[in-house]
Amino acid sequence: MKKGVLIVLSGFSGAGKGTITKKLLEKYDNYALSISMTTRNPRPGETDGREYFFVDKDTFERHIREDELIEYAQYVGNYYGTPRAYVEEQLNIGKDVILEIEIQGALKIKERFPDTLLLFVSTKNAKVLLERLTGRGTETEEVILNRMKRAAQEAEGMSEYEYIIINDDIDICVEETHSIIQSAKAATIRNEEFITVIQKELKDLSKGEK
Ligand code: 5GP
Repeated sequence: MKKGVLIVLSGFSGAGKGTITKKLLEKYDNYALSISMTTRNPRPGETDGREYFFVDKDTFERHIREDELIEYAQYVGNYYGTPRAYVEEQLNIGKDVILEIEIQGALKIKERFPDTLLLFVSTKNAKVLLERLTGRGTETEEVILNRMKRAAQEAEGMSEYEYIIINDDIDICVEETHSIIQSAKAATIRNEEFITVIQKELKDLSKGEK
């Protein structure tokens, strides 16, 4: 079976990565979502094992030491990381695995696995982002400002990504994301095995061998 593609979906906190992923998973069966581990506190409505695996700092650091995370990073004072086992298992059964992670982690993943597809989700402008973060009503003003500062920093790294996805109309955005992923799967960098196999087959058959 052909291995799935590893997809990193980054973007400003509040730009709608979570909603895009949720809709992709509902609509198409080729996707699997990696659930990250974090030391931040659950927000109201979040459940352990669904949005994140919520752990304390000692537990997180033990997972780092035991090499059970394919990447991790610190974000606004907390650790976030991607557990290895699930990602490998899903890729091996042909699923396209989505990682919703921030930029430091994204760049580490790209370095280790160069055929990773890096997508960046943005609002159409900064004002809309501030309005969305404020509208959530779950965060203090200080946290919102920290997230805006972090967004300004992250914007510096946007050119490292392959595609920018503007989340204005969510349904259009989901379709656009899906079609970008489908096209990216046909890129030569993600088909090296196929190329090698068909080159060999053609060589053999052109010798008149059956
Ligand atoms: P939030 O606290 O809003 O859920 O997430 C904060 C940021 O951490 C988001 O940009 C989110 O994508 C990122 N993030 C979530 N999980 C991971 C992870 O496993 N690794 C890294 N590097 N970033 C993550």
